[in-house]
Amino acid sequence: MFTEANISALRGSFNGAIHLPESESYDASRRLYNAMIDRRPGVILVCGGTSDVVSAVNFARENKAEVSVRGGGHNVAGKAACDGGVMIDLSAMKGIHVDPARRTARAQAGVAWGELNRETQAFGLATTGGVISSTGIAGLTLGGGIGYLMGRFGVAADNLLSAQIVTADGAILTASNEENPDLFWALRGGGGNFGIVTSFEYQLHKVGPEILGGLIMFPYDSAVDVLKYFRDLARSLPDEIGMQAGLVHAPDGSGIPLSGMIVCCSGSKETGQAHIEKIRQFGSPVMDGLGPITYEGINSMLDESMPRGVCNYWKSGFLSDLPDAAIETMVDGFAKCPSNMGGMFLEHFHGAATRVPVDATAFGLRSTGDNFILVSQWADPSQNEANISWTREMYAAMEPFFSGGMYVNYIDVDGDQRSVQSAYGSNLSRLREVKRKYDPSNFFHLNQNILPA
Ligand SMILES: Cc1cc2nc3c(=O)[nH]c(=O)nc-3n(C[C@H](O)[C@H](O)[C@H](O)COP(=O)(O)OP(=O)(O)OC[C@H]3O[C@@H](n4cnc5c(N)ncnc54)[C@H](O)[C@@H]3O)c2cc1C
Repeated sequence: MFTEANISALRGSFNGAIHLPESESYDASRRLYNAMIDRRPGVILVCGGTSDVVSAVNFARENKAEVSVRGGGHNVAGKAACDGGVMIDLSAMKGIHVDPARRTARAQAGVAWGELNRETQAFGLATTGGVISSTGIAGLTLGGGIGYLMGRFGVAADNLLSAQIVTADGAILTASNEENPDLFWALRGGGGNFGIVTSFEYQLHKVGPEILGGLIMFPYDSAVDVLKYFRDLARSLPDEIGMQAGLVHAPDGSGIPLSGMIVCCSGSKETGQAHIEKIRQFGSPVMDGLGPITYEGINSMLDESMPRGVCNYWKSGFLSDLPDAAIETMVDGFAKCPSNMGGMFLEHFHGAATRVPVDATAFGLRSTGDNFILVSQWADPSQNEANISWTREMYAAMEPFFSGGMYVNYIDVDGDQRSVQSAYGSNLSRLREVKRKYDPSNFFHLNQNILPA
């Protein structure tokens, strides 16, 4: 355990806030997005910049403490908090600089997607990012980063130009195609295994501010046909259109299940309008929110349906095909979901994200298809058992349809080395070599851990 006495030396080289278990601010600081995670770090070091990160890493190493790293705190497996060790919290590092001439942005590791989008959209620019505005750019980009623009511009990590990183020995390195290219390869999908990234430089693209898209919802009795219609539309989707389908509950708390599609048309208005008309041909929606929307708007429209601080237990798997039987399994199973907050989504992969060779970056999911995700969430902890059991049963029912591969950022609390193998596939052995070079002692192991070769 850390005390005021053994952190007094750190105070001289650390400018940020320090929260010990007896501090008033400790409880609020250790909390993450997922209320199921209740870990008690020995000390929380809230870094103000790269020099604080160096001091925090050196302090943890010298004290032989375990280290967890917090960016936006959204990881549902709760990897950002540890028990007894040092929680290195980057959430106060909010600097963003956009260079409109080069179409690039550099952002510090505590920035959330809503904050980055706001700054880049001031110049009519954007890059692929998360669809909930409070998700951290750090964890999302390091795991790959899927979002509405990935058909057009690749995953978030494909747009990373460079990263500044503090390694386990406290050194500050740049990773890019020119400097430490092996590390740069590994950072684009390999998660927090290699050090603490303090800032990210992204390639930006002209997007919006106004685009076409939104949400369209249909009655549950047509859910099977809605998902089949989505599947068939997605087969010939232009790069500039991103699509997801889902089974959700009405947002009014009534518990009424609905099926729906989310569409983001970021390219030409003609292509977008034609696609929206095709969707409308399906039939009578209960809610049609498709039309002009800002890029920032589409990336925050689901925020209220995924609130911070409720219980979460997610599971996911990849579907190269979406056979009728998989759709029927989803629709039958979702009807038994015990929580009004639960949802099930198909995130469509196509276009630019799937044209990058599997071995070009560490991110292993490069096939056309749909990432199936069970977003199990509920507010009342007395319902833990019911929701966890339902999620496990639902996942088991879907497993026969999975084609292999798993998104590392959705690996849940039950994740193990098999999940890591599934996420990285043929890239895992190279990742283990890079891990051996940059973190041979596995100092950064509270993550989806890549073991040093
Ligand atoms: C509501 C919600 C919506 C989501 N939507 C999307 C989405 O649209 N697309 C998508 O791809 N994913 C999405 N995700 C998953 C998301 O990518 C992961 O949860 C990711 O880990 C979040 O990053 P974070 O910085 O917020 O998380 P944290 O919990 O802070 O960090 C997760 C882990 O990442 C590593 N890490 C974080 N920051 C750093 C750093 N600076 N340096 C080194 N390692 C670091 C650490 O190992 C850390 O434990 C969503 C998650 C939630 C809860």
